[in-house]
Amino acid sequence: MSGLAPRAGILDIAPYMPGKAAVAGVRAVAKLSANESALGPSPKAISAFKKAAKELHRYPDGGAVALREAIGRCYGLDPARIVCGAGSDDLLFLLAHGYAGPGDEVIFGEHSFNMYPIIAGSVGAEPVAVPETDLTFDVDNVLARAGAATRIVFIANPNNPTGSYISADALKRLRGGLPGHVLLVVDSAYAEFVTGNDYSPGIELVDWGDNTVMTRTFSKIYGLAALRLGWAYCPPPVADVLNRLRGPFNSNVPAQMAGIAAVEDAGYIDRARQHNEIWRPWLAQRLEAAGLHVYPSAANFLLVQFPEEEARNALAAFDFFGRRGLITRETGGYGLPGCLRITIGLENEMRAIANALDDFMAVGEAG
Ligand code: PMP
Repeated sequence: MSGLAPRAGILDIAPYMPGKAAVAGVRAVAKLSANESALGPSPKAISAFKKAAKELHRYPDGGAVALREAIGRCYGLDPARIVCGAGSDDLLFLLAHGYAGPGDEVIFGEHSFNMYPIIAGSVGAEPVAVPETDLTFDVDNVLARAGAATRIVFIANPNNPTGSYISADALKRLRGGLPGHVLLVVDSAYAEFVTGNDYSPGIELVDWGDNTVMTRTFSKIYGLAALRLGWAYCPPPVADVLNRLRGPFNSNVPAQMAGIAAVEDAGYIDRARQHNEIWRPWLAQRLEAAGLHVYPSAANFLLVQFPEEEARNALAAFDFFGRRGLITRETGGYGLPGCLRITIGLENEMRAIANALDDFMAVGEAG
């Protein structure tokens, strides 16, 4: 034995468990486990990606200037305050590396994105999961818990896996109530799906001071999860920290080129949003008609509560769907073992899961 060992606490981190992509021996009919866009990428993004093939021997522009300018134009933001990364995960890690360490606390909601505790642990900080109310981030609980040792508060808004969100006013109250030394990270990965007019992805909070960051992703409505592309909108000193810490080429050429085309194709994003607005309530209604509780969702997925009895519980449903090639997401790892998360897919995929659900509930009744 050499005596080589990782830093204290690293082996306490429970590795991230992604949603399943396949079931052994079953032809996949629908992958509804990772909240990917039902419509996939814009055709314009696909052709930009293909063009990038000619550039594969070149390093990317490490500063992602053209992409940041395109994002800036589309969202009305200063490109100098945007930092791109290999998915928003990359940026969330970098924020933790810049602002938290051993002895510090990193706060997030009880049933929120599974990466937050991993990210906190990666820098030796203490992950603190704060109780929610009705599976929704509770501003008062977080304000009561945050103190001198708190360095970062992560809020996924809307939240994964619950689909719940807090209003722009509540978000503002959160920022206003947190001590100034706490970095608030508003993870707005699903922002483009939200249609409620009380919602804000957090841009004005970033502009308001120097201690709030908003992160966004190309993995969800833009349909580019495979390319790993995300961005953060930051106060200038935070952008500076991220630019010092990030890998020199942390977004690649195909991702940058496809990202520019995707963000400029506003019509395609409208169609993806409209698709979600049709099929999310449709699926919710079918699930409710089958007697299940569906949590209100503003994103492109639904969290569904299954009965406790063994024949009809979430695990049985997950296996039943899986045998039909319908892959959903178990949420035991999010502290919600009685639920499944189902991504909104294409029409045929939604009809297939709704029909499978009816059969599943009927089997339960018979047996
Ligand atoms: N935040 C939330 C809330 C998410 O659900 C996800 C993806 N599951 C991410 C961030 C990370 O997305 P990506 O790294 O693909 O940008």
